Amino acid sequence: GNKMEDDIAKGWRMTQGVTMAEENDCLFCKIAAGQIPSTKVYEDDTVYAFEDINPVSEVHVLVIPKKHYPNAAAVASADPQLFAHIVETAQAIADKRCDGAFHLLFNTGEAAGQTVFHCHAHVLGGKPDAAKLV
Ligand code: C5P
Repeated sequence: GNKMEDDIAKGWRMTQGVTMAEENDCLFCKIAAGQIPSTKVYEDDTVYAFEDINPVSEVHVLVIPKKHYPNAAAVASADPQLFAHIVETAQAIADKRCDGAFHLLFNTGEAAGQTVFHCHAHVLGGKPDAAKLV
């Protein structure tokens, strides 16, 4: 991009506490960009949804913003419309896959089990996988 775009991106990273190294190294940035394979469920200009590789229920889809944000609150404060779009995408997937009934989960922080520091909504529906809940 041009210098102004670079400066805006840099300023944004600083407000989010996201370093360039983190963003360049982010697993879900690479999945959203198609650089690492995933089973795609839905995609548009701003969000990407894919099957969780370790599903804990019949339906377990992750919905992520294509742009890097470390967690759900960072998305909600920086871009409320994008956050709403993540929630609506989760609903649309649940409408197709599990009669519109689902849990929407955002693990935030290592102590709460967040392992990938790129915002992702877990869309959980249908029967839980009992073996994985013990
Ligand atoms: O909320 P948390 O950060 O723990 O969730 C990360 C999720 O990403 C896990 O459910 C894990 O199975 C999933 N994952 C994935 N594909 C990868 C790496 C992790 O679906 N390549």
